[in-house]
Amino acid sequence: MLQIKNISFGYKNALVLENISFNVKKGEHLSLIGESGSGKSTLLKLIYGTYDLNEGQIFWNDTKILGPKYNLIIGPEFIKYVAQEFDLMPFTTVSENIGEFLSNFFPEEKQKRIAELIEVVELEPFAKTKVKELSGGQKQRVALARALAKQPQLLLLDEPFSHIDNFKKQSLRRSLFKYLKEKEITCIVATHDKEDVLSYSDTMIVLHEAKIIANDTPQKLYKDPKLSLIASFFDEFNDFELQGIKYAHQLKIVHQSDLEGRVKTSYFIGNSWLIEVEYHSKTVFIKHHSQLKENTTVFFKILN
Ligand code: ADP
Ligand code: MG
Repeated sequence: MLQIKNISFGYKNALVLENISFNVKKGEHLSLIGESGSGKSTLLKLIYGTYDLNEGQIFWNDTKILGPKYNLIIGPEFIKYVAQEFDLMPFTTVSENIGEFLSNFFPEEKQKRIAELIEVVELEPFAKTKVKELSGGQKQRVALARALAKQPQLLLLDEPFSHIDNFKKQSLRRSLFKYLKEKEITCIVATHDKEDVLSYSDTMIVLHEAKIIANDTPQKLYKDPKLSLIASFFDEFNDFELQGIKYAHQLKIVHQSDLEGRVKTSYFIGNSWLIEVEYHSKTVFIKHHSQLKENTTVFFKILN
């Protein structure tokens, strides 16, 4: 189990993270979310032991994670960290990059392991390609496989699919997160993508102004976001004085009601339309099955 005990950290004077505490159990998948600059990458780096803490402690089971003041080599053996900027060997092949840290004493097993990992990140056709010839997304997949090579106990992923296109993202996500669950590898994923969180995370932590403002399951936080910052991570939403936060799909256009507005714009979003409506000089977003003409008067109701 990972235990973060009351840690605080700042690069200079101002604290980027203040009094942060949480635990992550073995095999658990935790997502870390928050606006850009909220400290997600910093927190991952602290867990890896990249910097010395101002206050608090981090433990993996009974091992205390120590910063550079107390450690010559940053990063304990049992943790792997895949940074936003990945670090590969450009002039060697995908297979060689993935196998770099694997022992040569058992060449057959080494090759089997490399093949298994290449399959997880879906890079079979590129096994013999030099890394410098790969796209950004392909390189990111090599970095993921490399981090898994010597099965870590704890995997820290910083926006792991940010360079990967939508064609590949869905299947890669399924394949990687399934692999981690099967092997009971604990993972912490910093992300801005709700699809990394909703279907795969056991828990999600929201960072805001150096603090944790929510720590719960994605289901609970989606259903009852409490704060507009949390709702905005998931979907288009409205914040009503009386009814509170309602997602666009919780508003319905009807023939008649007390709530009357005027259509400003309709946005095509695939399986439906997002209608931007002016209501009492505010903007309200409503999901609807079809496009509506600008300036049409509409009535809507709020579903529960
Ligand atoms: P996130 O990953 O959530 O976008 P970061 O952890 O990268 O956030 O950054 C948190 C804050 O720390 C930001 O204000 C950022 O400017 C600052 N910061 C990040 N890295 C450094 C650094 N190496 N030196 C000084 N300040 C930094
Ligand atoms: Mg970051």
